Amino acid sequence: MSANIKKPYPIIGLEVHVQLKTKTKAFCRCENKYGGIPNTRVCPVCMGMPGMLPVLNEEVLSESIRAGIALKCSIANLTKFDRKNYMYPDLPKGYQISQYDKPICYEGILEIELEDGSVKPIRITRAHMEEDAGKLIHLEDGTNNSYVDYNRCGAPLLETVSEPDISSPDEAVRYLKTLKEIFEYIKISDCNMEEGSLRCDANISMMIPLEDGTEVNTPISEIKNMNSFSNVKKALEYEMVRQVEEYHKNGLTNTGTNKETRGYDDSKGITVFQRSKEGESDYRYFPEPDLPHVEVANSKIEHLATTLPELPAVKRARLVKQYHITAYDALTLSSVQELADYFEAICTKTSHYKKAANVVLTDICAVLNNDGISIEEFPIAPEAIAELVELLGAGKISSWMGKEVFEKMRATGKSANQIVTEENLVQMDDDSEIKAICQRIVEANPKSVEDYKNGKDNALKFLMGQVMKETKGKVNPVKATELILSFLQ
Ligand code: ZN
Ligand code: MN
Repeated sequence: MSANIKKPYPIIGLEVHVQLKTKTKAFCRCENKYGGIPNTRVCPVCMGMPGMLPVLNEEVLSESIRAGIALKCSIANLTKFDRKNYMYPDLPKGYQISQYDKPICYEGILEIELEDGSVKPIRITRAHMEEDAGKLIHLEDGTNNSYVDYNRCGAPLLETVSEPDISSPDEAVRYLKTLKEIFEYIKISDCNMEEGSLRCDANISMMIPLEDGTEVNTPISEIKNMNSFSNVKKALEYEMVRQVEEYHKNGLTNTGTNKETRGYDDSKGITVFQRSKEGESDYRYFPEPDLPHVEVANSKIEHLATTLPELPAVKRARLVKQYHITAYDALTLSSVQELADYFEAICTKTSHYKKAANVVLTDICAVLNNDGISIEEFPIAPEAIAELVELLGAGKISSWMGKEVFEKMRATGKSANQIVTEENLVQMDDDSEIKAICQRIVEANPKSVEDYKNGKDNALKFLMGQVMKETKGKVNPVKATELILSFLQ
C-alpha cells in the first residue's frame, strides 16, 4: 500500500432503545416497573391472548413527543402503529407493536461536543414508540435450563435512530452520553444501562480507499443490545479492524442486502456472528388493526414544549455567561440538573460565583461521592452554603478554614457565621504577628531554605504548610506567602 492512500474510516449509525418511565405499560394497565417476581406483572393484553384489545397509554405518547421536541424533531400530526412479526420465546404474541411508516418523531438533530470543543450535529432519522419483549434467563448451573420472565412484555420503549453521521467510536460514545443526558433531564427514562433501560444497537461499515482513488464500502454489521458505553466503544473498534481484514480476505462489499447481525462478547473482546440480518420484508410489517390512528394537535405539541426544562447544552452556555465560571465547571455542574439548580440557588444569595462553584464541585461533590447520595439528599440548604461562600469571598476566612467550617456545618448543623464566631476562626490580620511566625518558621527550617535556594519550589509549600499549622489555618495565605518569600531572599 502506498503512503498517500487514505486510511479506512468507519460509517456509524446508532439505534437507541430507552424504556419510558410511565406508571403503566404501553397498551395495558400492568405496572411498568423493573424486576419483580417473574411473570407477576402480566395480563391477557400484554401476553397477546386472542380477543384482547390494546389501548394506547397517553403518557407514552406525551413523553415520546417531549423527547422528540428535545431532539429538535418534527412531530407527526398523524401517527400510527404497526405489527412487526417475528418469533422468539420472549415474545408470546409473535409480534411487537411498533411504528413503521408514520413514526411519532422524525428528522431531528443531536449536537455532540467533540474533544476539541467544536460541535457536530448528528441527524436523527426518527424516534418511534414500541413495546418491549420479555426476558430469557439462561441458567449457568449445569442444567442448561432456560426460563422466561414476561414482566417486561409491553413495557413502553422509545427507539431513537440516527443517520450514519457518526465517524468514530469516540463520537458514538459522545452521542450516547449526550442523548442519555437529555433523556435524564427531561425525565422520560432513568436510562439505567445495567437494568437495560438504555440499550444500544450500532450499525457500522467501513470505507476503504483504494489505490485507484476510488473507495469501497464493506457490508454493514449491526451489533445488538450493548448496555455499556465502554462495550459500544470496544465493539466498534473491534469491527473497524475485522471488517477491513475481512474485505482483504474475501473482497465482499456492501450490496445493500448483505447486512449481518452480530453480538459483542465482552469477556473475549470480540464481536460474534449471530445471523444474516432480516430485511424489513422478513418482518411482514402491517398496520396494527387493534389500535386506531392517533391524531396529535399542534396545541398539544405546543403545550408539551412548555413542560421541557432548559436542556444541558443551553444551560452550560448560560452558566458560563451569567456566572463567569469556566466551561469545565459549567460542564460538571450541569451534568446533573439538580446540582446546577443547587449552585444557582447559592448564587441568588451571594455574588462570589467562582467560590460558590468551588465549594459545590470540591467540598459538596466529595461528600456526595463518599456517602453515595444525590444532591437532593445533601442535608445542608444552599442558603447556608451561601453564608460560607460569603465569608470565603470577603476574605474573612481562608479556604483552609473554609473546609473546617464546612465540616463543622455538616457535623453540628450550625451556620457558618455561628461556627466562625464561636470558635474565633477569624483570619489573622495582624501583620506583625504573622511576620513573627513566618520568621520563626523560616529560621527553624534551614534545610527547606537551602532546598528553595536550589530551585525546589516544594520547599515553599512546606514552609507555608508549617505556618498554616502553627496558626491553625487562620493566616491570610497571600500575606503569609509574601512574608515567607521576603525572608527567603
Ligand atoms: Zn398487561
Ligand atoms: Mn426496536
